[in-house]
Amino acid sequence: MNISENIKKYRSELPENVKLVAISKTKPNEDLLEAYRAGQRIFGENKIQEMTDKWEQLPEDIEWHMVGHVQRNKVKYMAPFVSLIHAVDSLKLLKEINKRARQNERSIRCLLQIKIAEEDSKFGISAEEAREILDSEAYAKMEHVKIVGLMGMATFTEDMEQVKREFQHLKKIFDEFQKDYPDLQELSMGMSGDYQVAIECGSTMVRIGSSIFGARNYN
Ligand SMILES: *Cc1c(COP(=O)(O)O)cnc(C)c1O
Repeated sequence: MNISENIKKYRSELPENVKLVAISKTKPNEDLLEAYRAGQRIFGENKIQEMTDKWEQLPEDIEWHMVGHVQRNKVKYMAPFVSLIHAVDSLKLLKEINKRARQNERSIRCLLQIKIAEEDSKFGISAEEAREILDSEAYAKMEHVKIVGLMGMATFTEDMEQVKREFQHLKKIFDEFQKDYPDLQELSMGMSGDYQVAIECGSTMVRIGSSIFGARNYN
């Protein structure tokens, strides 16, 4: 894997309005630094502890995105620095993020994760549940979080027609939401295997890991 060439390839290939989140989970700091030297500034992780360790050790101008499922009791560790939380799926979690952001005198941007995959293993909420959060009095009172968009993960399948249906479904929800909630500007969808379909369907943020950094080894 030539990480810097991969970064350059994506930077030239992606449309201007699509942000690249380099998903660096399980990868060592030297790999992130190679991407950083090639110009990459947005990195995504799915474990709070690992992201916090990397934040402490790597350059300050990196924008850290949490893309994984978030446990409420760990929000405090990332509240001082996290830039965008992609997978918010409850008002309870949002309240905790607001509380910890306030303690750090910050405002934290969040995306609501919508469940679009036909398989049941994925996290996320329905469009109605997302509306309930956006319309809630509790959210209206929160001064330290801002919901700036939606996120979704398609079914893990080779069937790109199915993936496309799922992304189109999310885009439709996103368009409807934008009419009522103009703060929603980001649509995070697409990974190494399906980012081209995601962009065709209107993604503004792709989360690409293995095709930048190579396959992950979880041992
Ligand atoms: C790991 C991960 C990715 C990146 O997956 P790749 O297939 O390696 O590109 C994207 N999004 C989330 C939420 C992830 O956990």
